[in-house]
Amino acid sequence: MRHVVILGSTGSIGCSTLSVLAMHPQQFSVLALTAATQTSKLLAQCLEFRPRFAAMLCPKAAAELKTALKQQGCATEVMAGPDALNALAAHPDADVVMAAIVGAAGLLPTLAAVEQGKTVLLANKEALVMSGELFMDKVERHGATLLPIDSEHNAIFQCLPAAFQHAQKRPALAEMGIAKLLLTGSGGPFLNRALDSLASVTVAEAVAHPNWIMGQKISVDSATMMNKGLEFIEARWLFNCAPADIDVVIHPQSIIHSMVQYSDGSVLAQLGQPDMRTPIAHALAFPQRMSSPVQPLDFSQLANFSFSKPDPERYPNLYLAIAACAAGQGATTALNAANEVAVGAFIDGQIRFTDICRVNEKCLAHFLNYATRSLDDIVALDFEARAYAQQLLRTLN
Ligand code: NAD
Ligand code: MG
Repeated sequence: MRHVVILGSTGSIGCSTLSVLAMHPQQFSVLALTAATQTSKLLAQCLEFRPRFAAMLCPKAAAELKTALKQQGCATEVMAGPDALNALAAHPDADVVMAAIVGAAGLLPTLAAVEQGKTVLLANKEALVMSGELFMDKVERHGATLLPIDSEHNAIFQCLPAAFQHAQKRPALAEMGIAKLLLTGSGGPFLNRALDSLASVTVAEAVAHPNWIMGQKISVDSATMMNKGLEFIEARWLFNCAPADIDVVIHPQSIIHSMVQYSDGSVLAQLGQPDMRTPIAHALAFPQRMSSPVQPLDFSQLANFSFSKPDPERYPNLYLAIAACAAGQGATTALNAANEVAVGAFIDGQIRFTDICRVNEKCLAHFLNYATRSLDDIVALDFEARAYAQQLLRTLN
Protein backbone atom coordinates (compact mmCIF):
# COMPACT_ATOMS: atom_id res chain seq x y z
CA MET A 1 0.00 0.00 0.00
CA ARG A 2 1.42 3.42 -0.99
CA HIS A 3 0.24 6.54 0.83
CA VAL A 4 -0.52 9.51 -1.39
CA VAL A 5 -0.64 13.25 -0.63
CA ILE A 6 -2.36 15.44 -3.23
CA LEU A 7 -1.38 19.12 -3.19
CA GLY A 8 -4.18 20.92 -5.04
CA SER A 9 -6.71 18.07 -4.87
CA THR A 10 -9.71 20.23 -5.84
CA GLY A 11 -8.19 21.32 -9.17
CA SER A 12 -8.36 19.67 -12.55
CA ILE A 13 -5.24 17.49 -12.00
CA GLY A 14 -6.21 16.80 -8.37
CA CYS A 15 -9.64 15.49 -9.39
CA SER A 16 -8.17 13.39 -12.21
CA THR A 17 -5.69 11.89 -9.73
CA LEU A 18 -8.48 10.91 -7.35
CA SER A 19 -10.42 9.36 -10.23
CA VAL A 20 -7.41 7.11 -11.01
CA LEU A 21 -6.80 6.28 -7.33
CA ALA A 22 -10.47 5.30 -6.92
CA MET A 23 -9.82 2.40 -9.33
CA HIS A 24 -6.95 1.02 -7.24
CA PRO A 25 -7.94 1.01 -3.56
CA GLN A 26 -5.78 -2.09 -2.89
CA GLN A 27 -2.60 -0.33 -4.00
CA PHE A 28 -3.04 3.26 -2.81
CA SER A 29 -4.52 5.07 0.13
CA VAL A 30 -5.04 8.82 0.35
CA LEU A 31 -3.06 10.24 3.26
CA ALA A 32 -3.80 13.94 2.74
CA LEU A 33 -5.70 16.33 0.48
CA THR A 34 -5.06 20.06 0.21
CA ALA A 35 -6.74 23.05 -1.43
CA ALA A 36 -6.73 26.83 -1.34
CA THR A 37 -10.33 27.89 -0.66
CA GLN A 38 -12.86 25.43 -2.14
CA THR A 39 -14.45 24.03 1.01
CA SER A 40 -17.40 22.17 -0.47
CA LYS A 41 -15.28 20.33 -3.04
CA LEU A 42 -12.67 19.33 -0.46
CA LEU A 43 -15.45 18.25 1.92
CA ALA A 44 -16.91 15.92 -0.72
CA GLN A 45 -13.43 14.49 -1.45
CA CYS A 46 -12.79 13.89 2.28
CA LEU A 47 -16.10 12.08 2.67
CA GLU A 48 -15.34 9.85 -0.31
CA PHE A 49 -11.62 9.12 0.30
CA ARG A 50 -11.39 9.48 4.12
CA PRO A 51 -7.82 10.91 4.21
CA ARG A 52 -6.02 11.15 7.56
CA PHE A 53 -5.39 14.89 6.92
CA ALA A 54 -6.89 17.76 4.94
CA ALA A 55 -5.35 21.23 4.72
CA MET A 56 -6.56 24.53 3.34
CA LEU A 57 -4.54 27.62 2.61
CA CYS A 58 -7.33 29.85 3.91
CA PRO A 59 -7.87 29.51 7.70
CA LYS A 60 -11.53 30.55 7.46
CA ALA A 61 -12.23 27.89 4.84
CA ALA A 62 -10.36 25.34 6.99
CA ALA A 63 -12.58 26.18 9.98
CA GLU A 64 -15.71 25.67 7.85
CA LEU A 65 -14.34 22.36 6.61
CA LYS A 66 -13.60 21.21 10.14
CA THR A 67 -17.16 21.95 11.31
CA ALA A 68 -18.72 20.26 8.28
CA LEU A 69 -16.55 17.12 8.67
CA LYS A 70 -17.43 16.87 12.34
CA GLN A 71 -21.14 17.09 11.51
CA GLN A 72 -20.71 14.21 9.06
CA GLY A 73 -18.76 12.09 11.55
CA CYS A 74 -15.58 12.12 9.42
CA ALA A 75 -12.34 11.81 11.43
CA THR A 76 -10.09 13.65 8.95
CA GLU A 77 -7.82 16.07 10.82
CA VAL A 78 -7.99 19.60 9.37
CA MET A 79 -4.97 21.90 9.18
CA ALA A 80 -4.59 25.45 7.83
CA GLY A 81 -2.09 27.80 6.21
CA PRO A 82 0.97 27.43 3.98
CA ASP A 83 3.03 25.71 6.69
CA ALA A 84 0.42 22.96 6.90
CA LEU A 85 0.79 22.30 3.16
CA ASN A 86 4.57 22.07 3.52
CA ALA A 87 4.26 19.75 6.52
CA LEU A 88 1.88 17.38 4.73
CA ALA A 89 4.09 17.32 1.61
CA ALA A 90 6.96 16.23 3.89
CA HIS A 91 4.90 13.92 6.14
CA PRO A 92 6.92 10.83 7.23
CA ASP A 93 4.08 8.49 6.18
CA ALA A 94 3.78 9.95 2.66
CA ASP A 95 5.24 7.82 -0.13
CA VAL A 96 3.94 9.70 -3.15
CA VAL A 97 3.23 13.43 -3.45
CA MET A 98 1.19 14.75 -6.37
CA ALA A 99 2.29 18.37 -6.88
CA ALA A 100 -0.81 19.87 -8.52
CA ILE A 101 -1.05 23.38 -7.09
CA VAL A 102 -1.20 25.99 -9.84
CA GLY A 103 1.51 28.63 -10.14
CA ALA A 104 4.38 29.80 -7.96
CA ALA A 105 2.40 28.87 -4.83
CA GLY A 106 3.34 25.25 -5.54
CA LEU A 107 7.09 25.81 -5.26
CA LEU A 108 7.69 25.53 -1.52
CA PRO A 109 5.41 22.55 -0.78
CA THR A 110 6.82 20.69 -3.77
CA LEU A 111 10.37 21.33 -2.60
CA ALA A 112 9.37 20.19 0.90
CA ALA A 113 8.45 16.80 -0.61
CA VAL A 114 11.67 16.67 -2.66
CA GLU A 115 13.78 17.40 0.45
CA GLN A 116 12.28 14.34 2.15
CA GLY A 117 13.22 12.13 -0.81
CA LYS A 118 9.60 11.38 -1.74
CA THR A 119 8.32 10.16 -5.07
CA VAL A 120 7.13 13.46 -6.50
CA LEU A 121 4.65 13.50 -9.38
CA LEU A 122 5.16 16.92 -10.89
CA ALA A 123 2.23 18.70 -12.54
CA ASN A 124 3.17 22.12 -11.14
CA LYS A 125 5.47 23.16 -14.00
CA GLU A 126 5.85 26.69 -12.60
CA ALA A 127 7.97 25.28 -9.74
CA LEU A 128 10.56 24.01 -12.20
CA VAL A 129 10.37 27.16 -14.34
CA MET A 130 11.22 29.24 -11.28
CA SER A 131 13.90 27.11 -9.71
CA GLY A 132 15.02 24.54 -12.31
CA GLU A 133 18.67 24.18 -11.40
CA LEU A 134 18.15 24.35 -7.66
CA PHE A 135 15.15 22.00 -7.88
CA MET A 136 17.02 19.33 -9.87
CA ASP A 137 20.04 19.60 -7.54
CA LYS A 138 17.75 18.91 -4.59
CA VAL A 139 16.16 15.94 -6.36
CA GLU A 140 19.62 14.43 -6.80
CA ARG A 141 20.90 15.33 -3.35
CA HIS A 142 17.88 14.00 -1.45
CA GLY A 143 17.36 10.92 -3.63
CA ALA A 144 13.83 11.94 -4.58
CA THR A 145 12.12 10.26 -7.54
CA LEU A 146 10.73 12.88 -9.91
CA LEU A 147 8.11 11.75 -12.42
CA PRO A 148 6.59 14.18 -14.92
CA ILE A 149 2.81 14.52 -15.12
CA ASP A 150 2.64 17.23 -17.78
CA SER A 151 1.49 15.12 -20.73
CA GLU A 152 4.34 16.20 -23.03
CA HIS A 153 7.05 15.50 -20.47
CA ASN A 154 5.42 12.27 -19.45
CA ALA A 155 5.39 11.29 -23.14
CA ILE A 156 9.08 12.15 -23.57
CA PHE A 157 9.93 10.27 -20.36
CA GLN A 158 8.13 7.19 -21.71
CA CYS A 159 10.11 7.43 -24.98
CA LEU A 160 13.52 7.71 -23.25
CA PRO A 161 15.75 4.69 -22.64
CA ALA A 162 15.21 2.84 -19.33
CA ALA A 163 18.75 3.80 -18.30
CA PHE A 164 17.67 7.45 -18.34
CA GLN A 165 14.34 6.79 -16.61
CA HIS A 166 16.05 5.12 -13.67
CA ALA A 167 19.20 7.26 -13.42
CA GLN A 168 19.56 9.21 -10.18
CA LYS A 169 22.03 11.53 -11.90
CA ARG A 170 20.57 12.32 -15.31
CA PRO A 171 22.94 11.56 -18.20
CA ALA A 172 23.40 13.92 -21.17
CA LEU A 173 20.95 13.16 -23.97
CA ALA A 174 23.73 12.80 -26.57
CA GLU A 175 25.24 9.94 -24.52
CA MET A 176 21.94 8.07 -25.00
CA GLY A 177 21.95 8.58 -28.79
CA ILE A 178 19.25 11.25 -28.61
CA ALA A 179 19.30 14.07 -31.17
CA LYS A 180 16.18 16.10 -30.25
CA LEU A 181 13.17 16.30 -27.99
CA LEU A 182 10.07 17.19 -30.03
CA LEU A 183 7.60 19.00 -27.79
CA THR A 184 4.14 19.00 -29.35
CA GLY A 185 1.35 21.50 -28.70
CA SER A 186 -2.10 21.94 -30.17
CA GLY A 187 -1.78 25.68 -30.83
CA GLY A 188 -4.83 26.24 -28.61
CA PRO A 189 -8.16 27.80 -29.55
CA PHE A 190 -6.67 30.62 -31.68
CA LEU A 191 -4.55 28.58 -34.10
CA ASN A 192 -6.57 29.78 -37.09
CA ARG A 193 -8.09 33.00 -35.78
CA ALA A 194 -7.36 36.24 -37.67
CA LEU A 195 -4.37 37.91 -35.99
CA ASP A 196 -6.01 41.33 -35.95
CA SER A 197 -8.94 39.95 -33.92
CA LEU A 198 -6.81 38.56 -31.05
CA ALA A 199 -6.97 41.82 -29.09
CA SER A 200 -10.72 41.39 -28.66
CA VAL A 201 -10.99 37.71 -27.65
CA THR A 202 -13.03 37.05 -24.52
CA VAL A 203 -12.01 35.05 -21.45
CA ALA A 204 -14.62 32.41 -22.36
CA GLU A 205 -13.05 32.02 -25.83
CA ALA A 206 -9.53 31.86 -24.41
CA VAL A 207 -10.28 29.13 -21.87
CA ALA A 208 -12.24 26.98 -24.37
CA HIS A 209 -9.41 24.64 -25.30
CA PRO A 210 -10.26 22.50 -28.35
CA ASN A 211 -8.93 19.21 -26.86
CA TRP A 212 -8.19 19.46 -23.13
CA ILE A 213 -10.32 20.36 -20.09
CA MET A 214 -8.02 22.14 -17.62
CA GLY A 215 -7.84 24.85 -14.95
CA GLN A 216 -8.30 28.49 -16.05
CA LYS A 217 -4.68 29.64 -15.81
CA ILE A 218 -3.20 26.83 -17.90
CA SER A 219 -6.06 27.20 -20.40
CA VAL A 220 -5.17 30.87 -21.01
CA ASP A 221 -1.49 29.89 -21.16
CA SER A 222 -2.40 27.35 -23.85
CA ALA A 223 -4.16 30.04 -25.88
CA THR A 224 -1.07 32.31 -25.76
CA MET A 225 1.25 29.28 -26.03
CA MET A 226 3.06 30.54 -22.93
CA ASN A 227 2.17 27.06 -21.68
CA LYS A 228 4.45 25.56 -24.33
CA GLY A 229 7.09 28.11 -23.37
CA LEU A 230 6.89 27.08 -19.71
CA GLU A 231 7.04 23.45 -20.88
CA PHE A 232 10.13 24.23 -22.94
CA ILE A 233 11.87 25.44 -19.76
CA GLU A 234 10.45 22.48 -17.82
CA ALA A 235 11.87 20.04 -20.41
CA ARG A 236 15.27 21.71 -20.34
CA TRP A 237 15.59 20.92 -16.62
CA LEU A 238 13.78 17.59 -16.44
CA PHE A 239 15.79 16.08 -19.26
CA ASN A 240 19.14 17.75 -18.64
CA CYS A 241 19.43 19.33 -22.07
CA ALA A 242 20.16 22.63 -23.78
CA PRO A 243 17.52 24.86 -25.42
CA ALA A 244 18.93 23.85 -28.84
CA ASP A 245 17.98 20.21 -28.10
CA ILE A 246 14.24 21.02 -28.00
CA ASP A 247 11.94 21.76 -30.96
CA VAL A 248 8.31 22.83 -30.59
CA VAL A 249 5.93 21.26 -33.10
CA ILE A 250 2.28 22.22 -33.56
CA HIS A 251 0.04 19.15 -33.71
CA PRO A 252 -3.57 20.37 -33.45
CA GLN A 253 -5.09 16.92 -32.81
CA SER A 254 -3.34 16.41 -29.42
CA ILE A 255 -3.00 12.64 -29.92
CA ILE A 256 0.80 12.50 -30.12
CA HIS A 257 1.84 13.93 -26.76
CA SER A 258 5.52 14.45 -27.68
CA MET A 259 8.42 12.59 -29.30
CA VAL A 260 12.09 11.72 -28.99
CA GLN A 261 14.28 11.77 -32.08
CA TYR A 262 17.32 9.47 -31.95
CA SER A 263 20.59 10.00 -33.82
CA ASP A 264 19.92 6.99 -36.09
CA GLY A 265 16.82 8.71 -37.49
CA SER A 266 14.26 6.84 -35.36
CA VAL A 267 11.50 8.87 -33.74
CA LEU A 268 9.62 7.41 -30.75
CA ALA A 269 6.26 8.95 -29.88
CA GLN A 270 3.74 8.41 -27.10
CA LEU A 271 0.11 8.55 -28.22
CA GLY A 272 -3.14 8.56 -26.32
CA GLN A 273 -6.40 10.37 -25.70
CA PRO A 274 -5.99 13.96 -24.49
CA ASP A 275 -6.82 12.90 -20.93
CA MET A 276 -4.46 13.57 -18.02
CA ARG A 277 -5.50 10.34 -16.30
CA THR A 278 -3.11 8.46 -18.63
CA PRO A 279 0.09 10.25 -17.52
CA ILE A 280 -1.19 10.21 -13.93
CA ALA A 281 -1.73 6.43 -14.01
CA HIS A 282 1.65 5.97 -15.70
CA ALA A 283 3.48 7.90 -12.98
CA LEU A 284 1.55 6.32 -10.10
CA ALA A 285 2.34 2.82 -11.33
CA PHE A 286 5.91 3.47 -12.63
CA PRO A 287 7.85 1.32 -13.40
CA GLN A 288 4.84 -1.00 -13.69
CA ARG A 289 1.62 -0.24 -15.60
CA MET A 290 -1.92 -0.11 -14.29
CA SER A 291 -5.38 0.56 -15.70
CA SER A 292 -6.92 4.01 -15.93
CA PRO A 293 -10.46 5.13 -16.77
CA VAL A 294 -9.25 6.48 -20.16
CA GLN A 295 -10.83 5.12 -23.34
CA PRO A 296 -8.39 3.36 -25.68
CA LEU A 297 -7.49 5.10 -28.93
CA ASP A 298 -9.54 4.03 -31.93
CA PHE A 299 -7.29 4.46 -34.97
CA SER A 300 -10.21 4.11 -37.38
CA GLN A 301 -11.46 7.44 -35.98
CA LEU A 302 -8.14 9.28 -36.33
CA ALA A 303 -8.43 10.71 -39.82
CA ASN A 304 -5.63 13.27 -40.00
CA PHE A 305 -2.46 14.08 -38.16
CA SER A 306 -0.93 17.43 -39.07
CA PHE A 307 2.20 19.28 -37.99
CA SER A 308 3.55 22.80 -38.38
CA LYS A 309 5.93 25.32 -36.84
CA PRO A 310 4.55 27.84 -34.33
CA ASP A 311 4.19 31.32 -35.87
CA PRO A 312 6.15 33.92 -33.85
CA GLU A 313 3.60 36.62 -34.68
CA ARG A 314 0.72 34.57 -33.35
CA TYR A 315 2.57 33.17 -30.33
CA PRO A 316 5.08 35.80 -29.13
CA ASN A 317 4.85 34.48 -25.55
CA LEU A 318 6.35 31.15 -26.61
CA TYR A 319 9.42 32.93 -27.95
CA LEU A 320 9.74 35.10 -24.84
CA ALA A 321 9.93 31.91 -22.78
CA ILE A 322 12.55 30.40 -25.08
CA ALA A 323 14.61 33.60 -24.76
CA ALA A 324 14.21 33.51 -20.97
CA CYS A 325 15.34 29.88 -20.93
CA ALA A 326 18.56 30.87 -22.69
CA ALA A 327 19.10 33.82 -20.33
CA GLY A 328 18.85 31.82 -17.08
CA GLN A 329 16.93 31.14 -13.89
CA GLY A 330 16.36 34.80 -12.93
CA ALA A 331 14.77 35.50 -16.31
CA THR A 332 12.46 32.47 -16.14
CA THR A 333 11.38 33.30 -12.57
CA ALA A 334 10.56 36.89 -13.56
CA LEU A 335 8.71 35.84 -16.71
CA ASN A 336 6.66 33.29 -14.78
CA ALA A 337 5.71 35.91 -12.17
CA ALA A 338 4.76 38.49 -14.83
CA ASN A 339 2.69 35.91 -16.67
CA GLU A 340 0.75 34.91 -13.54
CA VAL A 341 -0.07 38.57 -12.87
CA ALA A 342 -0.99 39.28 -16.50
CA VAL A 343 -3.13 36.15 -16.92
CA GLY A 344 -4.91 36.93 -13.63
CA ALA A 345 -5.62 40.47 -14.87
CA PHE A 346 -6.94 39.14 -18.20
CA ILE A 347 -9.24 36.66 -16.41
CA ASP A 348 -10.48 39.53 -14.20
CA GLY A 349 -11.30 41.62 -17.27
CA GLN A 350 -8.68 44.29 -16.55
CA ILE A 351 -6.56 43.84 -19.69
CA ARG A 352 -6.88 42.52 -23.24
CA PHE A 353 -5.62 39.12 -24.34
CA THR A 354 -2.78 40.71 -26.35
CA ASP A 355 -1.72 42.80 -23.32
CA ILE A 356 -0.52 39.61 -21.59
CA CYS A 357 2.46 39.57 -23.92
CA ARG A 358 3.15 43.29 -23.45
CA VAL A 359 3.41 42.84 -19.69
CA ASN A 360 5.53 39.71 -20.04
CA GLU A 361 7.90 41.27 -22.55
CA LYS A 362 8.54 44.41 -20.49
CA CYS A 363 8.99 42.48 -17.27
CA LEU A 364 11.37 40.00 -18.89
CA ALA A 365 13.45 42.84 -20.38
CA HIS A 366 13.68 44.47 -16.96
CA PHE A 367 14.82 41.35 -15.10
CA LEU A 368 16.62 39.53 -17.95
CA ASN A 369 20.05 39.38 -16.33
CA TYR A 370 19.03 38.96 -12.69
CA ALA A 371 21.02 36.20 -11.04
CA THR A 372 19.34 33.93 -8.46
CA ARG A 373 21.66 31.78 -6.40
CA SER A 374 19.41 30.61 -3.58
CA LEU A 375 15.78 29.81 -2.89
CA ASP A 376 15.52 33.10 -0.98
CA ASP A 377 16.73 34.95 -4.10
CA ILE A 378 14.09 33.17 -6.20
CA VAL A 379 11.26 33.94 -3.78
CA ALA A 380 12.39 37.59 -3.53
CA LEU A 381 12.61 37.96 -7.32
CA ASP A 382 9.17 36.38 -7.76
CA PHE A 383 7.80 39.00 -5.36
CA GLU A 384 9.64 41.88 -7.03
CA ALA A 385 8.65 40.83 -10.56
CA ARG A 386 4.98 40.58 -9.50
CA ALA A 387 5.10 44.11 -8.12
CA TYR A 388 6.74 45.34 -11.33
CA ALA A 389 4.11 43.57 -13.46
CA GLN A 390 1.30 45.09 -11.34
CA GLN A 391 2.81 48.49 -11.99
CA LEU A 392 2.95 47.76 -15.74
CA LEU A 393 -0.75 46.86 -15.71
CA ARG A 394 -1.53 50.41 -14.61
CA THR A 395 0.42 51.93 -17.49
CA LEU A 396 -1.24 49.94 -20.31
CA ASN A 397 -3.60 51.87 -22.54
P1 NAD B 1 -6.60 24.25 -11.11
O1 NAD B 1 -6.71 25.73 -11.09
O2 NAD B 1 -7.71 23.45 -11.66
O3 NAD B 1 -6.31 23.72 -9.61
C1 NAD B 1 -5.35 24.30 -8.79
C2 NAD B 1 -5.32 23.65 -7.41
O4 NAD B 1 -4.35 24.36 -6.62
C3 NAD B 1 -6.65 23.74 -6.65
O5 NAD B 1 -6.81 22.61 -5.84
C4 NAD B 1 -6.46 24.98 -5.77
O6 NAD B 1 -7.23 24.94 -4.58
C5 NAD B 1 -4.98 24.89 -5.45
N1 NAD B 1 -4.37 26.21 -5.21
C6 NAD B 1 -4.52 27.33 -5.98
N2 NAD B 1 -3.82 28.34 -5.45
C7 NAD B 1 -3.22 27.88 -4.33
C8 NAD B 1 -2.36 28.46 -3.35
N3 NAD B 1 -2.00 29.76 -3.41
N4 NAD B 1 -1.91 27.68 -2.34
C9 NAD B 1 -2.29 26.39 -2.25
N5 NAD B 1 -3.11 25.77 -3.14
C10 NAD B 1 -3.56 26.51 -4.17
O7 NAD B 1 -5.22 23.92 -11.88
P2 NAD B 1 -4.87 22.62 -12.76
O8 NAD B 1 -5.33 22.83 -14.15
O9 NAD B 1 -5.24 21.37 -12.03
O10 NAD B 1 -3.27 22.76 -12.82
C11 NAD B 1 -2.46 22.45 -11.71
C12 NAD B 1 -1.01 22.44 -12.16
O11 NAD B 1 -0.84 21.37 -13.10
C13 NAD B 1 -0.58 23.70 -12.91
O12 NAD B 1 0.75 23.99 -12.60
C14 NAD B 1 -0.70 23.31 -14.37
O13 NAD B 1 0.20 24.02 -15.20
C15 NAD B 1 -0.33 21.84 -14.32
N6 NAD B 1 -0.90 21.04 -15.41
C16 NAD B 1 -2.24 20.95 -15.54
C17 NAD B 1 -2.79 20.21 -16.58
C18 NAD B 1 -4.30 20.04 -16.74
O14 NAD B 1 -4.72 19.29 -17.59
N7 NAD B 1 -5.11 20.69 -15.95
C19 NAD B 1 -1.94 19.58 -17.50
C20 NAD B 1 -0.57 19.69 -17.33
C21 NAD B 1 -0.06 20.42 -16.28
MG1 MG C 1 1.30 20.03 -21.07
